[in-house]
Amino acid sequence: MTRLRKIIEAEIEAQGSIGLDSYMALCLSHPDHGYYMQKQPFGASGDFTTAPEISQMFGELVGLWLVNMWQIAGAPSPFALVELGPGRGTLMADILRVARSQPAFLEAARLHLLESSAKLRKAQKARLEGFDVTFLEQIEALPEMPVFIVANEFFDALPIRQYVKNDFGWQERRVAAGLSWTLGKTQEMPELDKRFSGLATGRIVETCAAGEAIANVITKRIATYGGAALIIDYGEFDGVGDTFQAVKTHEPVDPFLTPGEADLTAHVRFSDLVKNGVFHQITEQGAFLNRLGIEARSQALEAASGKCMKLEKERLAGDSEMGKLFKVLALLPENYSPVAGFSDEP
Ligand code: SAH
Repeated sequence: MTRLRKIIEAEIEAQGSIGLDSYMALCLSHPDHGYYMQKQPFGASGDFTTAPEISQMFGELVGLWLVNMWQIAGAPSPFALVELGPGRGTLMADILRVARSQPAFLEAARLHLLESSAKLRKAQKARLEGFDVTFLEQIEALPEMPVFIVANEFFDALPIRQYVKNDFGWQERRVAAGLSWTLGKTQEMPELDKRFSGLATGRIVETCAAGEAIANVITKRIATYGGAALIIDYGEFDGVGDTFQAVKTHEPVDPFLTPGEADLTAHVRFSDLVKNGVFHQITEQGAFLNRLGIEARSQALEAASGKCMKLEKERLAGDSEMGKLFKVLALLPENYSPVAGFSDEP
């Protein structure tokens, strides 16, 4: 039995069973044995590949969007340029590269990263060499100034809980001895009744308290100081059902088989991240990138480098690739109207 498995089993023994959120948190973020502390998860040799690792075009277009939002906001200075869960730092490096065409943006930007893994912090610092990087210990430490935030495949990594609806209320799906599912006692949960009204009995729903707590802080910052947040991930606006999954070397695996060695995620339920106090827009990743001009960008790169960009573009924006599964949510100040990437109006 691995050391992490022993730690998890001991926790279960002490408590009878643990919530799926505790299981996910132990597997992903245990300070010594957690997945993100141990492994280099990204890229062809890792467990999964993310959009910024597929193509520089992703970060470039996101960067142009952020610069555009900053201009619309009246070019505030200083402002916090923030990434949540920056992985290898590729997305932020691409953002900062395109932003060089706007020196005032770079001058006003105070770079802040939220990253729990010491190993990845090191990689990010190296990748962003030459920039002054501040690591946030927690989202509440965001400075009191306008914030321009990006998060790609971050919210899917945050711990979730699962509940099953029955005729009398809800039962939590918990993790029991031997790493197996067990159902908690039936409880009345008015908040879930409201959120999932009209749901058939027997259906599973998911909640992500950590994600909502972060969304609350972001919303307050945007409402108070202005700014924008761009949240990109797989999921639906108001999805239901069991989306908990484990992936190891690009293949789905049993999430209980090798704790700490597989990436554990769940689809993001974007409506739960939209809190009172902001204007929001959501669209599919393919539509977002097409509206921001990925076609023109890929042609320009092709002309400059001679490299064929068709495949990269297809992987990011194609309907059967990331284009439809991944959604892009923008959180903006309340008085805003549709912005670039979300509307077909020029
Ligand atoms: N955005 C990157 C990496 C996505 S993987 C990309 O697109 O390639 C998820 C990232 O979030 C990793 O950097 C991981 O270490 C970080 N992360 C996961 N849970 C976290 C948490 N609770 N707090 C801070 N960072 C977290």
